[in-house]
Amino acid sequence: MTFKDFNLKQPIQQAIDEAGFTEPSPVQKEAIPLILAGHDIIAQAQTGTGKTAAFGLPMLSMMTGDGSVEGLIIVPTRELAMQVSDEIYRFGKSSGLKTATVYGGTSYDKQIERIKQASVVVATPGRLQDLLAGGRIKLSPKFVVLDEADEMLDMGFLDEITAIFEYIQNEDRQTLMFSATMPPQIRKLAEKILKDPKTVAITKGESTNTSIAQHYYVVEEHERDDALVRLIDYKNPTKCIIFCRMKKEVDRLASHLTSQGFKVSVLHGDMEQRQREVAIRGFKSGSVDIFVATDVAARGLDVNDVSHVFNYHMPFDSESYVHRIGRTGRGGKSGEAITLVSPNEIRTIKRIEKDVGTKMVTQSIPSRSEVQSSKQDELIAQIAATQITEHAIEIVKTLQHEIDIVAIAHMLASMMLEKQEIKGKEKIGFKAEDVERLLQKAMAGRDDRNRRNRSGGGRGKPSFNRSGGGRDGERRRDDRPRGDRNQKSSSKPNRSGGGGSKPPRKDYSL
Ligand code: ADP
Ligand code: MG
Repeated sequence: MTFKDFNLKQPIQQAIDEAGFTEPSPVQKEAIPLILAGHDIIAQAQTGTGKTAAFGLPMLSMMTGDGSVEGLIIVPTRELAMQVSDEIYRFGKSSGLKTATVYGGTSYDKQIERIKQASVVVATPGRLQDLLAGGRIKLSPKFVVLDEADEMLDMGFLDEITAIFEYIQNEDRQTLMFSATMPPQIRKLAEKILKDPKTVAITKGESTNTSIAQHYYVVEEHERDDALVRLIDYKNPTKCIIFCRMKKEVDRLASHLTSQGFKVSVLHGDMEQRQREVAIRGFKSGSVDIFVATDVAARGLDVNDVSHVFNYHMPFDSESYVHRIGRTGRGGKSGEAITLVSPNEIRTIKRIEKDVGTKMVTQSIPSRSEVQSSKQDELIAQIAATQITEHAIEIVKTLQHEIDIVAIAHMLASMMLEKQEIKGKEKIGFKAEDVERLLQKAMAGRDDRNRRNRSGGGRGKPSFNRSGGGRDGERRRDDRPRGDRNQKSSSKPNRSGGGGSKPPRKDYSL
């Protein structure tokens, strides 16, 4: 099957060819014909499987370009709004269909101006509701898309979404809902806003992104920094994203990695819009190789060539895990997801493994000498493949007057080795073969605790508890006005107090 089988409008097909898409992804194969036939749909497929084009292409193809806003796409975050806009713009531009992007934190007037000229509006719920409720814009789109619906509900946008649908004046609209997961609240919302929807569910086998290898490494709490640096040295990522749980940790880790000579930038919920855009552009263009981020900031981020995703800490839940690792292995490329876990967290990673339905393999962190020798092999291969230049011949000629030729070679090799010296202690973390034993020990420990709890009258608690006062405290919504964020981004290079064996104080600002 090819995209031509959908009979999309010629300029849209041309844009697909220019993008280099040849075969539609599973969710595209199923959703596009249903949308073209005029159905409402509720579609579930994993991240990175091409959901944007699944709704974007048929929608654009059916638009008339009559000067009104024909399509409205609601997405959870600003980053996603920008990203989805880019993709829609790319497919719609040769049909003359304009896109407006609407999110919090920027001027209302400019956005209203753009909306007036647009055929497609891509918006975050908070700002969109503001504009509609204040009567500053009126919308009666033919198509409404809820993208990443599960994330929007997770972030607490249910009220905004419900309100938005009350302002939308078109009863004949076609409504499309896309989500990576389908918890019950999503189905409830779907019942309210969709009419006789067709369901598209790409089952696990098809949709779990099998091009992502998933590994975990067991380390002591205080070894996380060393483990991370060692793994980066060893894996040599083209680009990587490192996820932390908290903003504070992002800043601390970023300055640590910078001090180790990596090109690093950060992304978290407290950054100004402008700063975030600059950071993402830098990462996309390759002037930065490592992105240290919180979940909230990196949701939906689509950057090509992210070869590795590192979970410095495990995410709070399985859904976040799926979203995080979905930043690699995009658009049919292969990727690797690496999670650092402490012995106490092994059982939690096992639970995530079960929820996600894919096998995670535990590995031992390579020792310093192993990495050193693999680097040495690379260096030898590199030297052997190097073209000799005129300039180099001149330099050797000059040196040769003073120094023996073999000594020159030794000196050059030493110089190159110095640049790639592997730091840190020889052995980090637990050996893969010991992990099963650690797991059993942890389980036994849990049983003891449960027994104690029960005898005290209470029931055994689930092993993984969200500490720190519920979701609202942990996740910050993107549209929240800037005023209530007075946290400065600290970039103290001071490592003392950071990586101790005690868990950090519970400050879940993302
Ligand atoms: P999702 O929304 O499901 O997480 P995206 O829509 O962001 O996924 O798509 C992930 C990446 O795959 C994007 O870079 C997109 O351009 C690319 N892509 C989408 N469909 C195809 C296709 N049919 N062939 C090749 N690449 C595709
Ligand atoms: Mg998406």
